[in-house]
Amino acid sequence: MYRAEEDYIKNIYKLTVEKNKKIVKNNELAEVLGFTDQTVNEMIKKLVTKKLVSFIPYKGVSLTSKGLNESIRLVRNHRLWEVFLVNHLNYKWTEVHEEAEKLEHASSDLLIENLFKYLKQPVYCVHGNAIPNLDGSVAKTFDFSLSDCNPGDVFILKRVMDQPKLLKFLDEKNIRLYSILKIVGKDTFNGMIEISYLNETFYVSLIIADKLFGELES
Ligand SMILES: [Zn+2]
Repeated sequence: MYRAEEDYIKNIYKLTVEKNKKIVKNNELAEVLGFTDQTVNEMIKKLVTKKLVSFIPYKGVSLTSKGLNESIRLVRNHRLWEVFLVNHLNYKWTEVHEEAEKLEHASSDLLIENLFKYLKQPVYCVHGNAIPNLDGSVAKTFDFSLSDCNPGDVFILKRVMDQPKLLKFLDEKNIRLYSILKIVGKDTFNGMIEISYLNETFYVSLIIADKLFGELES
């Protein structure tokens, strides 16, 4: 498989399996990948020929079992390499994406199994995304977002979207996975949530809060 094809099926996995959806529309895929609808349609045809995806006109695309197995392998590789880069080579969580993108395509199954053991079988990547097992089973995905919190709630951060500007903002505030954020106020009209963290109180837009996931402290 070519790298471009692997990137497609990996993204189809993220947009279907990881979102509990059966199918993704071609134009949604085009938007995520930043390609034109026509480019995506042509690639989908190739992937159908290779029996990696099935396509239903007007509905969209889903992974075949062959495509699913391949995409699990890629997502698993990516997230394991991230853990290695951060825990053993002192990369920051803002820096791992590009390296892991390259390494995920270049790793044999044996290398990944050895890496998995070496890392002591991690369950989540450095952004809190679940690392799928080869049989497709995954740990709990945290999907309760900070934007759903109300004043008085205490929120434990467990997963963040891997977006450079977002991670940079979190770094500036010293917020990382497992940070405990207290919700002081919420202004839905202006789309802001007021947070207290490390002796500081500040506002976060609900657009940003929507990209931070975790659970309430019980
Ligand atoms: Zn990650």
